[in-house]
Amino acid sequence: MSKIRLKTITISLLLTCVTFGMACFQAYAWDGDTTHKDMAYWAGATKGVEAEYLPFLRDAGPAPDSFDQPYCQIRHAYLIDTGWPNEAPRWCQDHANDAKLHYGQGQKLDAYKELGYATHYIIDVSNLMHTTIRATDTPWWNPLRFLHDIYEVDYVKNNWNSGKNFGQYTYTYGTQRTIGIYDPYQACVDMARYANGDSSTRANYICDKIIATSDYGNDNTVVFYTKDNLVNAMAYCRGLVDYIRRP
Ligand SMILES: [Zn+2]
Repeated sequence: MSKIRLKTITISLLLTCVTFGMACFQAYAWDGDTTHKDMAYWAGATKGVEAEYLPFLRDAGPAPDSFDQPYCQIRHAYLIDTGWPNEAPRWCQDHANDAKLHYGQGQKLDAYKELGYATHYIIDVSNLMHTTIRATDTPWWNPLRFLHDIYEVDYVKNNWNSGKNFGQYTYTYGTQRTIGIYDPYQACVDMARYANGDSSTRANYICDKIIATSDYGNDNTVVFYTKDNLVNAMAYCRGLVDYIRRP
C-alpha cells in the first residue's frame, strides 16, 4: 500500500471516529440538567406524584443519556427523512411498560424511575434535530458545530431559564394540557412527526434558518416551532404519567 493511500485511509478513519464520537457524546439529547430534569419533574408534580418520589423522577429524566451509551444516536432518534435511526419509540414503550408493571405491583419508586426514563425519549424527539438527518450539517458561520448542538445547546439550553425563557413557557402552557397515551410507541412516533412538521416543514425551516444566519434565534417562526414542540412534549409527558397509573 502506498504511503499516500495509507495516509488517506488514516485521515478518513480519524475523521469518522471524531465525527461519530462527537455525535454520540454530544448529539441526540436535550440538555439533561435543564430540559429533561425539569420536564420529568413538572409532569409528575402537576399530576400529583407524591413529593418523596419527585427527585427520583427528575433524576431519571436525563439518565438514558448515560445508560444508553454508546447507542444514544440510534435509541434517542426517530429520523423522519431517512427512516433510520429510529429506536426512540421502542425504548419509550419499553420503559413506560416497565413503569406500568412496577406501579401495578405497588413498587412506586421503580415505577417513577422507569417513567422518568420513558419521558426521555418523547422529549428527545420533540427536538426536531432528533428527527432529521440534517442535524449533522454545519452552517457557514460556524462550520465546527453541528446544527444539532447549535440548536440544542446554544439556543434552547441557553434560553431555558433566561432570554426566550423556554422553560417557563413550557411549564406554563404545557402543564395545562395532557395528551392521552394508550400506546407509548405510537405516542413517541406521533411526537417525532409533529416536531418534524408536515414533510419536514419545521425541521427544514429551522435548519435553513440556522444555516442562513447566526441570528436565527430571534426569528419568530423558529421561536414558535420551538415553543410549540416543547409544549406538546410536556403534554405527552403528562399523558405518560396517566398511562403508567391506568389499571
Ligand atoms: Zn437523549
